[in-house]
This record gives sequence, C-alpha cells and structure tokens, in this order.
Amino acid sequence: MTTASEPRHLKAKGLKRGVPRPAKALCSDCGLCDTHYIAYVKDACAFLHQQIAELEARAHSRRRDLDNEDELYFGVHQEMMAARKIEPIAGAQWTGIVSTIACQMLETGLVEGVVCVQNTPEDRFGPMPVIARTPEEVLAAKVNKPTLSPNLSILEQIAQSGMKRLLAIGVGCQIQALRAVEKELGLEKLYVLGTPCVDNVTRDGLQKFLETTSRSPETVVHYEFMQDFRVHFKHEDGSAETVPFFGLKTNKLKDVFAPSCMSCFDYVNSLADLVVGYMGAPFGWQWLVVRNDTGREMLNLVQDQIETQAVMSKGDRKAAVQQSIPAYDKGVTLPMWAAQLMGVVIERIGPKGLEYARFSIDSHFTRNYLYTQRNYPDKLAAHVPDFAQRIVEQYDLPE
Ligand code: FAD
Ligand code: SF4
Ligand code: SF4
Repeated sequence: MTTASEPRHLKAKGLKRGVPRPAKALCSDCGLCDTHYIAYVKDACAFLHQQIAELEARAHSRRRDLDNEDELYFGVHQEMMAARKIEPIAGAQWTGIVSTIACQMLETGLVEGVVCVQNTPEDRFGPMPVIARTPEEVLAAKVNKPTLSPNLSILEQIAQSGMKRLLAIGVGCQIQALRAVEKELGLEKLYVLGTPCVDNVTRDGLQKFLETTSRSPETVVHYEFMQDFRVHFKHEDGSAETVPFFGLKTNKLKDVFAPSCMSCFDYVNSLADLVVGYMGAPFGWQWLVVRNDTGREMLNLVQDQIETQAVMSKGDRKAAVQQSIPAYDKGVTLPMWAAQLMGVVIERIGPKGLEYARFSIDSHFTRNYLYTQRNYPDKLAAHVPDFAQRIVEQYDLPE
C-alpha cells in the first residue's frame, strides 16, 4: 500500500510491449513507459515536453552559451578532443572507448552497475537492455545495435537491486527522460556516458536499410556512416563494403527512419556528462566532449589507455548543406558512378573535423525541422530547442 507522501510512481504500472505509448507515433521506445516511472511521462518524454535548456542547467550547472559557435552546436562543455584506444577492443563500434570507461568504472568500484545494450540471443542487432555488473557483461554490449532500444526499461531493477551508484550509457532521447526522473531513482550518484545519435530506425526499418544498401544484408555485423561520406559495412567473413552517401537510395529510404528520429534535435546528447562519438574527429579517431566535472572524472580513469589530439576544423559546409536540402526533400538518388565521383571530390575538398560535425548537424536539423513543420505543425514551436532554431535559420528552407 502507498501513502500520500510516497512517490507517484509507486502507484503506477508500466505498459506491456506493443501497447501504444503516450507519444504515439513519435515514441522512440526509450523504455521509460515500460516501467512505473511512466507516472512522469508528460514531463519526462522528449517528444511530449522538450526541456533541454532546463535540464542542461540542472545537469551541468549552467546553460549552453548560444553566442559561442562550439556550444551552440555541441552543447555545454569544458573540453573536446579526438582520441583512440592504444589497443582497440576488437568488435567494438570504433576503438571501444565507451566499453573501456564502463569496465574501468566497475573495476574501480566507482559504480555498482552499468545500463547498456546487449543483443538478443537470436538477433545480433536486436537490442536487449541490461544492467551489467561485471566487465564481461559490459563487453557483451559492445558495438551499436543500430535500432531504437528501450534502455530505460530496466529502471525498476535499480530500486529492486538496492544499487546506489550507477552508470547509464545511452542516446539523447533516453538520456533526456532519464535526467527528468533522475531524482526519483534513489541513487547517490548517476554517471551518464552518451553517444551522439541520428537517423535511428525500428528493427524492421533496419532490415529495409540493409536490404536496400548492402550487397549482403544477412552477413552485416557492423556499419557506420563515416566522415569520408561513405557507409562502411563489415561482414561476418571480415570483408568490408563501402557505399557513398550520395548513392543511397534516398527515394526508398525516405520513410525508413523512425518519426521520433525525424523530429529529434538532440543529436549531440546534450545532457550526458561525457559524450563519445566520432563525427568531430579525423577519420579513424573518436570524438570526445567533456561536459562537466563528472565527465572529466570518467575520462580520467582511462587516460593511460588512450592517445589524444586536439580537435581541428577545415572547409566550409554551408553551400553543401544548402544544396542537400532540396535534394533530400525530393528524394533524389544519383547513379552510382556519379555518387562515387561526388564522394571522392567531397572527401578531398569537403568539411573536416568539427566542420564535418557541423555539416551533419545542419543537414539533419534542416531536414528534421521540415519534417516536424509538415507533420506536427502544432508542436513545432515548443519542440524545437532554441539552439536548433538558430542553426536552422542559417538556411533557406522550401515551403
Ligand atoms: P563500444 O565500446 O562498441 O560501445 C557501444 C555502446 O553503445 C555499448 O555500451 C552499448 O550499450 C551502446 N549502444 C549500442 N546500441 C545502442 C542503442 N541502440 N541505444 C543506446 N545505446 C546503444 N556518433 C557520431 O559521432 N555520429 C553519429 O551520427 C552517431 N550515430 C549513432 C547512432 C546510434 C544508434 C548509436 C547507438 C550510436 C551513434 N553514434 C554516432 C556513436 C558511435 O557510433 C559509437 O557508438 C561511439 O563512438 C562509441 O564507440 P565505441 O567503440 O567507444 O563503443
Ligand atoms: Fe514513453 Fe519514451 Fe516513448 Fe516517450 S519516448 S512515450 S517516454 S517510451
Ligand atoms: Fe533518440 Fe534522436 Fe537517436 Fe532517434 S535520433 S533514437 S530520437 S536520440
């Protein structure tokens, strides 16, 4: 029995899988609504209540400085760098910095558990969120499961386990909901290790993407949209396959991305303590954004296992972004020979380092702004954060 002074969630019950969620078509299946923390969904859901600025102030003790271009694009931060593991983890998405930090946090006793995503026994890309308690369980979660993943579905297990110190790994929409309910979790300390995220898909959508894009969809074990403007696939037999972005069958892929991800503006995971991606770094390196002292504490644990270099920025993205807006809008696909050629030219003269990251943010924000404006006009004003509004305003958008 609950009493009036007990938290609201103790009276609530999570929804069964398959039952529509409060955000309806916009739900990114972050997992919150699987748990009794659904009691806070109206406030916590990234698609019902966009509150990045308020949560940034809470998580990082200050808001992002919109007049500083690096903060406008990459969020509140103390430092950015390019880094890679001196001895990469075989089979990790990049060099395994995320898994290494999580293992180290468990081994040093900084945390008792790590929220991460393993795969289901029957499907290498089927997401299975867990709270890992050993480095082996963390390593079993390495590599992206490139689909929507209900990471927060494990939230009820935290209170049940009695854990007080936790690391959560996740993408922006998961972390927004997590930050919103953080104070209800009964933790002494929550660490948040985020990755950037864009263009995510349901498991069915992933299948369509693989079948439309790869020569051998069934054998793909890993893929990434890389800074050389190509999608790199790795297959079971170790062979590699690359497909230029400009050769993607955009007419067929237009509807493949989940509606949540077509209206998402938290590409850089604004609310994590530390972000580990790749897009602001030179090819082959990872890109690290240290947002606050907690993020620095996490990174310090692995300093002796990584090499680093300063971030760099080269080129000018603006014309390429402006040209890509109508091309995407009309679903134009170039013939493969032209796509290859364009890929080579853009790679030589195109944006690099932080300018590549800005290119990717601008292209996705303009596309997502148009999508939201057309499909959810009533939500637009409240859903687009101020930083995204400023970024989008740099371009001429079609009606
Ligand atoms: P690893 O050591 O291999 O660890 C990967 C971690 O990711 C694991 O801990 C696992 O729990 C977690 N994870 C796997 N799948 C998911 C999921 N679906 N949801 C939440 N967590 C998950 N970086 C960019 O710079 N630009 C991008 O556009 C970009 N898009 C991404 C899209 C998705 C869906 C994901 C999951 C990541 C994306 N990243 C992006 C991050 C990048 O691909 C790497 O994940 C990151 O650089 C870490 O690499 P690593 O080798 O250190 O990770
Ligand atoms: Fe619930 Fe998360 Fe879906 Fe929002 S995105 S409706 S919080 S499961
Ligand atoms: Fe969530 Fe945005 Fe990634 Fe979609 S693109 S899974 S909404 S963080």
